Amino acid sequence: HREKVKNLLETEEFNREVTVMGWVRTFRNNQFIAINDGSCMGNIQIVVDFNNTPEALLKRITTGAAIAVKGTLVESVGKGQKVDIKAESIEILGDSDPEKFPLQPKKHSLEFLREIAHLRFRTNTFNAVFKVRHALAFAVHQFYNERGFVYMHTPIITASDAEGAGEMFKVTTLDLDNPPRTEDGQIDYSEDFFARSANLTVSGQLEGELAAMAFGQIYTFGPTFRAENSNTTRHLAEFWMIEPEVAFADLEDNMNLAEDMLKYVIEYALKNCKEELEFLNNRLLEEEKTKPQNERSELSLLDKLNFCLTNDFERVTYTEAIKILKSSKPNQKKQFKYLIDEWGADLQSEHERFLVEKHFKKPVILTDYPADIKSFYMRQNEPDEQGRKTVAAMDILFPGIGEIVGGSQREERLDKLTQRMEDMNIPQEELWWFLDTRRFGSAPHSGFGLGFERLVLFVSGMTNIRDVIAFPRFPKNAEF
Ligand code: ATP
Ligand code: MG
Ligand code: MG
Ligand code: MG
Repeated sequence: HREKVKNLLETEEFNREVTVMGWVRTFRNNQFIAINDGSCMGNIQIVVDFNNTPEALLKRITTGAAIAVKGTLVESVGKGQKVDIKAESIEILGDSDPEKFPLQPKKHSLEFLREIAHLRFRTNTFNAVFKVRHALAFAVHQFYNERGFVYMHTPIITASDAEGAGEMFKVTTLDLDNPPRTEDGQIDYSEDFFARSANLTVSGQLEGELAAMAFGQIYTFGPTFRAENSNTTRHLAEFWMIEPEVAFADLEDNMNLAEDMLKYVIEYALKNCKEELEFLNNRLLEEEKTKPQNERSELSLLDKLNFCLTNDFERVTYTEAIKILKSSKPNQKKQFKYLIDEWGADLQSEHERFLVEKHFKKPVILTDYPADIKSFYMRQNEPDEQGRKTVAAMDILFPGIGEIVGGSQREERLDKLTQRMEDMNIPQEELWWFLDTRRFGSAPHSGFGLGFERLVLFVSGMTNIRDVIAFPRFPKNAEF
């Protein structure tokens, strides 16, 4: 019967017989083995009777090896923990060649650990990050379940490009070195598996809308794929998205839902990942100490998370934000890489982060973006006094992250929607099923997409999105 290290570290039942199994972290002075079994970040210390243990066995107790230990709980000789295990027998389950095992007991850089993503789970940092990720995923489901949302699984393979950004990975069984061709030389997809071109989904939204127009409120939570330049610290080629969609809801309902959800899941993590978040908090504090005083962040990770819970997000329109950015110091002094001169430009992450971190100093919900920079399905607002066209969109911007949520009230009016599709050269035949929702019992509805890894980034305090997903996918990398 194997016991978890997590439970043993709490106990004070000395003299009890126990068996633990785990991986060796360190073996000090041939006397104390620290092992970790993944149940927590802490190690339990095994006291070895050096004189009565065969030399051949001692040699095999190396960092990374998997071992089973039978022994009794004794009062710890070390500081900081209550119990050790006095070993009666040690069995090697799996050797680990000390010459070759890359995770030696020392501090490794995150860059190095990214190269050994298959082993980095065994570090405390990644133990904490993935426990936080797990808790957040669980909290997402709990939040929607409590509110009566139906969890929908939308397809991974689709024909449509919901975002119209042309960033899709093709799915095909054709031999692309020698594809069948039509008479005019085009690839003949009629011979392909689906008898048409198909892609990995970039978003479950369009299908989600269909379900919302029957169940009233649904959410999706699944992988999405974008063949975009994801050589940034915020983009992956494969990421997970949470997409609620609600019928009879307008933009304000949508903003409230998103804000409530973010607060709910952050609060859940704070309550359920105390040990992990404290560890990550301290990790960041150590990192901050290496920076010059004026570059250090004013708030610790835990302060930041608590601040988020106790403050209303700032709600501003795109038009107001542009005014702020145009007159802001970095814009005037040309310190922004992209200067904001004109109404209509899309914000870059430097602008988003300026609004959040420098100007409002809190999470911001930006609404009513120019129609030209947003997707076809967003609800068209009445043009403003100057005749400028906007849509009922909302993006939520977070400190250190920039955009974490993108959403909108959807265009439920068939004539407005088809007109916009025509203007944007989006073929209506391909989306006949989507347009049917507007033909049969159309109703106001709204929804958003939350990038799950950006949420994990924010809550864990990590700075590179490749460190919050187990096996990151990005250009020129699909090793693991
Ligand atoms: P960005 O402006 O950061 O490229 P986006 O506006 O293209 O994001 P949306 O289409 O609005 O993204 O997708 C909804 C959410 O999904 C975003 O708010 C973000 O949290 C997340 N997201 C988008 N693209 C990626 C990506 N490549 N990797 C990880 N998360 C992403
Ligand atoms: Mg993008
Ligand atoms: Mg964006
Ligand atoms: Mg967006």
